Amino acid sequence: MKIDAISIFPEFFDVLGLSLLGKAQDQKIIGFEAHDLRKWTSDKHRTVDDSPYGGGAGMVMKPEPWGDAFDEIFPKGQRPTIIFTTPAGIPFTQKLAADLATRSHLVFACGRYEGIDQRVVEHAGAQAEVLEVSIGDYVLNGGEVAAIAMIEAICRLIPGVIGNAESLIEESHNSGLLEYPSYTKPASWRGLEVPEILLSGHHAEIEKWRNEQSLLRTKANRPDLLAE
Ligand code: SAM
Repeated sequence: MKIDAISIFPEFFDVLGLSLLGKAQDQKIIGFEAHDLRKWTSDKHRTVDDSPYGGGAGMVMKPEPWGDAFDEIFPKGQRPTIIFTTPAGIPFTQKLAADLATRSHLVFACGRYEGIDQRVVEHAGAQAEVLEVSIGDYVLNGGEVAAIAMIEAICRLIPGVIGNAESLIEESHNSGLLEYPSYTKPASWRGLEVPEILLSGHHAEIEKWRNEQSLLRTKANRPDLLAE
């Protein structure tokens, strides 16, 4: 999969060179490139923002650098998927991550200030599949951290990125529930014991206990998931 990210702080994406995503890049499973939006500015100050039409606080990202960036980054004759990071977008979920993991080319557009001129989103629709996506009901200073979270969630679902693909099956949100609690050695630690059933070696009983724990945890932490 090819992934591009456009930002005025491309250095944020250096973290993608670490750990499993770094390895996936070394192995050419993922090709990642971060671009500095200011590359596509033409004035002395490399301006990317201006005051909002209609008034109000803050600045809005100008459309011209974005349009020029897309013209250069979007391959001719192909239709990549562009993800505009925005708290006003559709929620990012495991289901959406799995869907995006099947694409061949993702482009992440990272806003700053009050966001990007909305015509950029409309315009991109002529050249790409367009999604406006939020990582949660809160507001960050910029789209970089949101894009990194999405890239990690998407890429770990691409075959070959995670060593043991089986570990993806029982995870939270895969079946609509949260995962059961996990324990490792020692069996006794600071007066706290690992649940007896996990030491029994009785696989059917362990599975039953895990299913119950999964339901109890979902009910306690995310009752909205049970309602769904
Ligand atoms: N004025 C915008 C609003 O109220 O919807 C918020 C702008 S925010 C300060 C600046 C940028 O951070 C956004 O353009 C977006 O790229 C990013 N951002 C902030 N919160 C986000 C979230 N929850 N999910 C995805 N991106 C987010």
